[in-house]
Amino acid sequence: MTTVLAYVGLGSNLQDPAAQLARAVMELARLPQTMLQAQSPFYASRPVGPQDQPDFVNGAVELSTSLPPLELLDHLQAIEQAHGRERLRHWGPRTLDLDLLLYGNKTLDNERLKVPHAELANRDFALQPLLDLNPELTLPDGRRIDQLRAQCPDNRLRLLLPLAKTD
Ligand code: ATP
Ligand code: CA
Ligand code: CA
Repeated sequence: MTTVLAYVGLGSNLQDPAAQLARAVMELARLPQTMLQAQSPFYASRPVGPQDQPDFVNGAVELSTSLPPLELLDHLQAIEQAHGRERLRHWGPRTLDLDLLLYGNKTLDNERLKVPHAELANRDFALQPLLDLNPELTLPDGRRIDQLRAQCPDNRLRLLLPLAKTD
């Protein structure tokens, strides 16, 4: 059974976004045939698309998995559903969005799944967490994630520091 490193981008801007992401990371860690290798810091970012919605919290995880890509997507969508995701308008607010950013060195282009994610190169809130996970990361075509990050539009990323415990 082949195992690949897959990178999943997480986003939320409703109902305590950082908590949505933290819960989703635990759920991703429990997927079958999958191990959570690393988790990026979380960032706040301006929304893409409609601006009349709250800022997003974004992050990414590195998974080693032997799930085929479409099965992994099924699981990602099931987790979104369990978080009460509703599709109201394109690029609108959501409790949880899980995008498959990279699946090993594979390029996939079918009706349900395009990998690398179609907008990855334009999104600092996806590229920066990937860089945090692996500064050497490249796309299947050889382009470096750090170079894409340096060139992409600015969504005013802000690192979210863990809240200090006050007990
Ligand atoms: P964007 O894809 O621009 O980030 P979005 O995340 O708001 O927008 P969704 O409504 O979550 O879009 O997903 C729409 C469809 O995109 C999904 O039903 C899924 O089949 C498809 N899709 C294609 N490629 C991917 C991918 N790499 N990761 C997740 N979904 C994908
Ligand atoms: Ca998305
Ligand atoms: Ca999505």
